[in-house]
Amino acid sequence: MGPIPSYGAGSHVLLFPFMSKGHTVPLIHLAQILLRRSISVTVVTTPANHSFMAESLNGTVASIVTLPFPTATNIPAGVESTDKLPSMGLPLFYEFSTATSAMQPHFEQLLETLVPRVSFMVTDGFLWWTLHSAKKFRIPRLVYFGMSCYSTSLCMEARSSKILSGPQPDHELVELTRFPWIRLCKVDFDFEYRNPDPNTPGFVFNMKIIESTRESYGILVNSFYELEPTFVDYVSKECSPKSWCVGPLCLAEWTRKVYEGGDEKEKPRWVTWLDQRLEEKSSVLYAAFGSQAEISREQLEEIAKGLEESKVSFLWVIRKEEWGLPDGYEERVKDRGIVIREWVDQREILMHESVEGFLSHCGWNSVMESVTAGVPIVGWPIMAEQFLNARMVEEEVKVGLRVETCDGSVRGFVKREGLKKTVKEVMEGVKGKKLREKVRELAEMAKLATQEGGSSCSTLNSLLHQTC
Ligand code: UDP
Ligand code: UDP
Repeated sequence: MGPIPSYGAGSHVLLFPFMSKGHTVPLIHLAQILLRRSISVTVVTTPANHSFMAESLNGTVASIVTLPFPTATNIPAGVESTDKLPSMGLPLFYEFSTATSAMQPHFEQLLETLVPRVSFMVTDGFLWWTLHSAKKFRIPRLVYFGMSCYSTSLCMEARSSKILSGPQPDHELVELTRFPWIRLCKVDFDFEYRNPDPNTPGFVFNMKIIESTRESYGILVNSFYELEPTFVDYVSKECSPKSWCVGPLCLAEWTRKVYEGGDEKEKPRWVTWLDQRLEEKSSVLYAAFGSQAEISREQLEEIAKGLEESKVSFLWVIRKEEWGLPDGYEERVKDRGIVIREWVDQREILMHESVEGFLSHCGWNSVMESVTAGVPIVGWPIMAEQFLNARMVEEEVKVGLRVETCDGSVRGFVKREGLKKTVKEVMEGVKGKKLREKVRELAEMAKLATQEGGSSCSTLNSLLHQTC
């Protein structure tokens, strides 16, 4: 790592992530980046999320403040993160997100007492109400936007060209005038996003996000210019307020962990397992679907069989306890496959030399982490804007392939044959080789972007120059 730029040194920044892992992890990385520049950082969280935050920021001087999480009718006590919700069904998600606005008085009490004065705050798009507090205290608010510029651009174009409310059938390919080389269907977009009924909680919530974003100081994007120049340019031109592309944020902790001093106990067993695969020179497919995804039992069984029959080595993270596997499965695959049910350090796995492919739901953080690690993606989107991300991965950036669904549709069921075919293509095929070359080039570009003189570093410098 080169010299650390001095912009912003001595100033104070407040970060307030939304309570889900995918929204929290990147802001923890931002905290680390700012701290390295001698900027004081206050991170706002809630009691049940404190330990995750404290562990992640262990060894830093970040100050972590907890505000009480509000009670809400259908949210069980102690559930303060969307990955802990009994279901990701939208009514519960909206109740959870809406409940956060009751934190506003506590948040404002905090703003009154914070010293030194906060130069700017970065708060999640979902915490739209923080804009009002920011205005009251005359603190610039940057909105953390956990989407690629590609997805943002397509959402904006789709909305302004009215294709989402047009007469085309849901599954028919349509063309976006501004991006004629991209063909997509209505079902590439989230149902809530397509639904034009202004009385639904989803519509109301999205409008609040959009309106409060427009009135904010800027948007902070976890991407880098070289990855998606056309779309960064589009967003810069068409989107208000100004966007600042400062990613990949995950590069904040991109040094290989060392388990030295013979303290093998500390090394997670899956890392030992990966080390063994490296010794055998066998390449591993890492399979994980983020912290939120819900997968049917039937679908899970097809994944299990597909991985088994593909004959590739795999490390599969199954997060939800209720995800059962076929009887005797783990024993049967144990020579080449390992199933993990704990929280893993995903960046550490992706960085391991034996990992040569990532079967991923294409959550934006996972895509950025895979690109940064130079690992090609087998895309299997599940919800939200993951379908757009998967399209981007395959068609635009060309660092992966989407799994073949049984009927070829965007949201179709995936059978073991389709999974097997795509996995083999990426892990062993000629296409896979091309994807690997491309993703490794981009990984280098990502590193350069975050170093002094690189695009993301310069963008962060100019943001700090303007605000601190
Ligand atoms: N993650 C992790 N360990 C896990 C599960 C997830 O480190 O066991 C991290 C992952 O690296 C990523 C984030 O959690 O940074 C998940 O974000 P993503 O956008 O990929 O998916 P989401 O969980 O939001 O669907
Ligand atoms: N969104 C979503 N699914 C989609 C598209 C968007 O959940 O398929 C959400 C997105 O996460 C964001 C909100 O809708 O919170 C508004 O996104 P958009 O990019 O359209 O905002 P705009 O740039 O138009 O203000």
